[in-house]
Amino acid sequence: VGALAQTRELNRLRLLNELREAAPADRAELGRRTGLSRATVSALVADFLASGAVTEMPDPAGSGAPGRTPGLLRLDPRAAAVLGVDFGHRHIHVAVVDLAGEVLAERRLDLDVHAGASAALDVAASLVDVLLPEAGVDPGRVIGVGMGLPAPIAARDGLVQNPSLLAAWEAVRPAEELAARLSLPVRVANDADLGALAEGTFGAGRDFENLLYVKLSTGVGAALILDGELHIGATGIAGEIGHLGVDRLGVICRCGNRGCLETIASGDAIRRALQPAHGSGLTMRRIVALADADDPAAVAAISHAGTAVGDALAPLCTGLDVDAIIIGGDLGARCAPLRAAIAARVRERALPPTGDIPILAAELGDRAEPLGAATLALTQTGWLRASGVIALVDRLPWVPVD
Ligand SMILES: [Zn+2]
Repeated sequence: VGALAQTRELNRLRLLNELREAAPADRAELGRRTGLSRATVSALVADFLASGAVTEMPDPAGSGAPGRTPGLLRLDPRAAAVLGVDFGHRHIHVAVVDLAGEVLAERRLDLDVHAGASAALDVAASLVDVLLPEAGVDPGRVIGVGMGLPAPIAARDGLVQNPSLLAAWEAVRPAEELAARLSLPVRVANDADLGALAEGTFGAGRDFENLLYVKLSTGVGAALILDGELHIGATGIAGEIGHLGVDRLGVICRCGNRGCLETIASGDAIRRALQPAHGSGLTMRRIVALADADDPAAVAAISHAGTAVGDALAPLCTGLDVDAIIIGGDLGARCAPLRAAIAARVRERALPPTGDIPILAAELGDRAEPLGAATLALTQTGWLRASGVIALVDRLPWVPVD
């Protein structure tokens, strides 16, 4: 890239940043704020207007001659859109999201994602076909797709890293398969990473730079945000506490190891613990209701699970010295006694003051993963640049190098 093109790119970025923060503003105001010449501002604004990234409205206070009234300019969040496609163990959730992170349309379906990758991918593609018209988004305005899967994803190639955790997807290249169906670029990440990204950007973690995010549902997932950026580590597994070995004599986990945290603290484990008292097939919602009603078996099982999660989180608090812990998932976010048990153990076991941090319920519910997937798409600098809308890049917390 030549120096001139680089300068132009930098000027575009500077101007778009101002549009985002100061909008609506007129050209003169934008010139003052950016330090760019009037001619440069006018030329760049003409580009943005042509690409649809910026809209202009008449300035009500404008007093210029007819045709020369200086218009007010603002960034148009609808100039482009992204898709968030989240595959859970038993559902698929697709969202159409604008550049400001607002959900324009979404749909969630029950689906056994373990039954087959190809069928699940086909369902995702047909949901997109239904949702784009519903959102009023022209398919040509969609710049890319963020995709979530409920398994560790290899940082190197985007493949499912531990096939034992998602066997049906073992031979599948998830991003390429979805890209082929949608004719759009796709980035894939682990569901807990996406939850962390969404909660850290729009939810309970938005005021913190360093976060541990734990997803407690039928399984146990976790992810890390450090210095405002998702930290996936060298191989993509960073933060994954569900498969820490915590009980050397414990039962065999679905990952093949013995005594993982997930065998003790997951919703499935709690459900098993409650089977003698309440039978099989308890939903997560029912478990939460039992704990809230002080059912003795539920209180004991929740306390046991929370203590185990706290034991796993305490050394991470001390080792990483984060600002807050966000507890998500349909068990973690809803079950106050579970969070209380986690907090009590973290405060007891982490080296002060590293455990004396807010331990908060996630706020985005089951929208966290699709929103996180959309956020992942919004942070792909190449896609934004190709669409002519690069202003949001440095505002979002995680800008991967691509
Ligand atoms: Zn395991």
